[in-house]
Amino acid sequence: MLTINSIKNGIVIDHIKAGNGMKIYNQLKLYEAEYTTALIMNAQSTKAGKKDIIKIENRIDIDLKILGLLDPNVTINVIENEVIKEKIALRLPDTVENVIICKNPRCITSVETYVPHIFHLVNEDKGEYRCKYCDEIHKIET
Ligand SMILES: [Zn+2]
Repeated sequence: MLTINSIKNGIVIDHIKAGNGMKIYNQLKLYEAEYTTALIMNAQSTKAGKKDIIKIENRIDIDLKILGLLDPNVTINVIENEVIKEKIALRLPDTVENVIICKNPRCITSVETYVPHIFHLVNEDKGEYRCKYCDEIHKIET
């Protein structure tokens, strides 16, 4: 198995669904980072199957809401002096603003462009969000 040097201080995003790693890497704009980053794809997971892992040699602020929408099953490990200081389990955020765009052409957000797109989580298991204004349902791919 491929071994990647552990990081001293930074963040490891673990348990990314295989194939989602690149999407998250791009979303976090890690390709333009000035610190060391690693995208590990198709790593053997301790559970059945494969996973992607992202290692970041820096304590950056990660937008947990956006990460939760991209892949709610990931775990974030905060590394300090080579040990895991904190584990953050993600879940879908209750409310998101300007992340999901309402596709209903009759929705106020389609007509009035200054109105923020606000969606509330209505079913966490199914990943369903409902538009605050028009009740349009948006399903997150998990
Ligand atoms: Zn709407």
